[in-house]
Amino acid sequence: MNPVEQAFSDSLNDRGPGRTISIDKGGQDIRRPIHEDEALCSYILSTVKAPAGALKIRESTIPDSGSGLFTTRDLAAGELIFTSVPLVLCAEVGDSKEACDFCFQQRRRAIHPVEDRLADPGETLPDVYKCMGCNLYQYCSESCWQRAWDTGHLYECGLLANAPYELEIRMLYRILILLRKKVLLPEQVQALARLAHEQDKYEQLSSDWQGVKDIAAEAKRRMKSELDVADVLKLYCLIRCNAVPVDQTFRNSPLGSAIDLGAAMLNHNCEPNIVIVFNSTRVEARAVRSIKAGEELQHCYRDIAYDCTFRSPRIAARYQFKCQCDRCIRETNRHYEGASPDIDDPIIHILATQGDLFAIIEKAKIQALAFRESFNVTTFLAEIDDITEEGHAGRPWPEDLEPLPIVLKSLAAICDAQGDIVKTLKIRVRALGHAKYRNTLPYVEDLIDFVVSLRAFTMYPHRKVVLDGPLPKFKDFEDFSVGHMCALHALLIRFYGEQGRVTRIIRDIMREEIDKYYGPRPPTRVFRRKFKASHETILKWAGVDPKCWVVEIS
Ligand SMILES: [Zn+2]
Ligand SMILES: [Zn+2]
Ligand SMILES: [Zn+2]
Repeated sequence: MNPVEQAFSDSLNDRGPGRTISIDKGGQDIRRPIHEDEALCSYILSTVKAPAGALKIRESTIPDSGSGLFTTRDLAAGELIFTSVPLVLCAEVGDSKEACDFCFQQRRRAIHPVEDRLADPGETLPDVYKCMGCNLYQYCSESCWQRAWDTGHLYECGLLANAPYELEIRMLYRILILLRKKVLLPEQVQALARLAHEQDKYEQLSSDWQGVKDIAAEAKRRMKSELDVADVLKLYCLIRCNAVPVDQTFRNSPLGSAIDLGAAMLNHNCEPNIVIVFNSTRVEARAVRSIKAGEELQHCYRDIAYDCTFRSPRIAARYQFKCQCDRCIRETNRHYEGASPDIDDPIIHILATQGDLFAIIEKAKIQALAFRESFNVTTFLAEIDDITEEGHAGRPWPEDLEPLPIVLKSLAAICDAQGDIVKTLKIRVRALGHAKYRNTLPYVEDLIDFVVSLRAFTMYPHRKVVLDGPLPKFKDFEDFSVGHMCALHALLIRFYGEQGRVTRIIRDIMREEIDKYYGPRPPTRVFRRKFKASHETILKWAGVDPKCWVVEIS
């Protein structure tokens, strides 16, 4: 074993001066928690960029969650808390996955939705460079390939023949080779090894533990690692617990995965106070609401827009814990309260309805593809009404409860592709009007879709539209469009910052829209009044109670 691998193993098992055993008689991990190791805490905090003393690592306020990251100062909503450059990054690979494994610039499918949706017809994108050696990783340019090669890909490339596509496995291969080739610094290695791995919980919950052990054995063999298989196994568990998705659009599947020491200190909450976004390969953590000095910083690991019946099992399977946050409790209670006494288990009933609703998306997609001309969204909307009538344990399925909004958004996207802009708008207003978690990135992405379709409508008012009843005045749509553009811009500043890439794109469009607009200037009081009236008219047209969607323009 080389000294770096040795240091990794020692740190992973917390062996060191005066500490030779890390497993107690019950086989439990008794590594010191990170917050009790002052030197380790200050090293981890030194890897993130934040004002001096602004962050602290302490015991988490969530039971059984080990260490957590805390702010020592008050933070305003939208404030940048820290940035950092991950220790290791790894891109998704495979057909239609085209993130550059070096800079993570998005391409074609992965190009930012704002740009994609506003691209000129026939606009072509530059070629993808695939590494000729492994035929696995892709790059946006030869220079990115060269830099990736020089910073570590040369060591792994020849060992990746027929490597699996699973991101965590390739991340494991990458870290093993970086340890073997001594690319990582000793302090980085020690800190990495001390992150939580939850191997015992994973073993208990896994339905195929032998398969997991095989992954570790194969990784050791393939990467010629001198670490014990037991250590490789722990590393694999550690990657699963700590990797953050590299996600710049929050729409498609993530572009890849990253291990970042600062982000790894953040615990999960389904109602988080911060959000993590990626700016190219840089992690940016921002406050999504005002936060008081001394509060623990928490972000939502995944599926923030979904209900607990969908979100919790996915979080449990991936991160080995059952979330007990206020939102999870509230959502669970909602499913039991008022459930029909004829139904034995409300949750099973609700899950069945969820399945029926998800099936609509597939059915609609197939029909739109196969019978383009005769695709009729009205029949699908009627089918949704049937399913939802008593779908929530004998009661009507709430309009805000997923997957109803996502099914509606998918139908709207199909209508959009078919060129039926009025139906697109009407269905999107219904889905967004009932959205519950508006302070989230998925909602921001929905709003981008929404303003893009609104803009298409207000730009080409005379195109042929299919009407199913009286339409609000065109002027109402113009006020509505400008107002939502301003609201979206304000939200984007909160998530991506004033100078974020998406913020800048939308700002340019917003300014263009306002220039063309004949009404009062936003955000004057006259504009706000006009917008409010138009907003109510359009919501009523789409069958949404205006009280469900109140938009403040500032
Ligand atoms: Zn690149
Ligand atoms: Zn290669
Ligand atoms: Zn929760």
